[in-house]
This record gives sequence, structure tokens and C-alpha cells, in this order.
Amino acid sequence: MFVYLCVIIITYMPEKKPRWKTVSIPVEVWEKTKYMVESGELDMYHTPSEFIIDAIRRRLDELDKIKIVGEEYNLSEEEIKRMAKLEHTNIAVNGGKTIIAIKDHTDGRIYDVVLSRGHRHIHLFCMGDQSFDCVHVKYVWHIILPRLKEYIEMYRKKREK
Ligand SMILES: [Zn+2]
Repeated sequence: MFVYLCVIIITYMPEKKPRWKTVSIPVEVWEKTKYMVESGELDMYHTPSEFIIDAIRRRLDELDKIKIVGEEYNLSEEEIKRMAKLEHTNIAVNGGKTIIAIKDHTDGRIYDVVLSRGHRHIHLFCMGDQSFDCVHVKYVWHIILPRLKEYIEMYRKKREK
């Protein structure tokens, strides 16, 4: 009788979904991450895994944002796909103008988007395309600028403390 009961219990036990999956990453990425965590430069991560999970979460958030921006501003499917291949690589100030470098993984080129302040507005201009409304300008406007504002705000609050 006891054996029979056990069999029933095992049969009806709901299958437990694993909470973690394992992936492989290049050793250099792992070592850089480990160094960043262990050097104490960042106080928000306790383990390299926390760092990596946060990086993935941010990328997923960005892709979600691109989709939302695409729908909100009626971007074509092609533009949305291209925007997903853009990467903000650098920011520099030169002669009063801010230059935001965007790497476009579609063609591997860097596109400099120049930010200048007008009377009341911010102007963005893509040097590579000589355009005010190419996909690089849209990416900077909708994805990068809000993030920069967040960083500046965070930095300000940290300084005030
Ligand atoms: Zn452009």
C-alpha cells in the first residue's frame, strides 16, 4: 500500500521549472566583469552574475523602448530593426557642441550626431547622413537623450548628498 501511494504522489507532482539557465560567455568578458565587481569601483553589484543580469535587462529594456517609440512615431519596420542595431559609443564636447557617436551595426560605421542648443530647442544633426531626421537622430532623440537626462539627474543627486 505504501509503495503504491508513493507512486501516485510522484506521478502527480507538478514538474518544477528550473529557475536558472547556464550560458557561456567569452573569458575576456567574464574577467572584465569580475574585475569591475571585485575592484569595488561599483558598489551596486556583489557578484559578476548580478552585473551580467543587469546588462541583459538594460538591453531588453532598450529593445522594448525602441518598439514603443517605433509605434508611437509610426516608424517603419525597417527603421525599427535598424534602430535595434545602433549602439551609443561615445560622447564628446567640441567647440560648444556635443557630439554623440553612434555605431551602426548595419554597416559598421560610426555616425556622429551633433547636438546644439538653439534659442529654446535642442537641434540634432547627423553628420554621416547630413540629416536632421535619419534613424541615428531618432535614436539619439528618443533613446539616448532620456537616458542622459537620467544620468545627469542621478549625478546631481549624488553630488548634493
Ligand atoms: Zn544618420
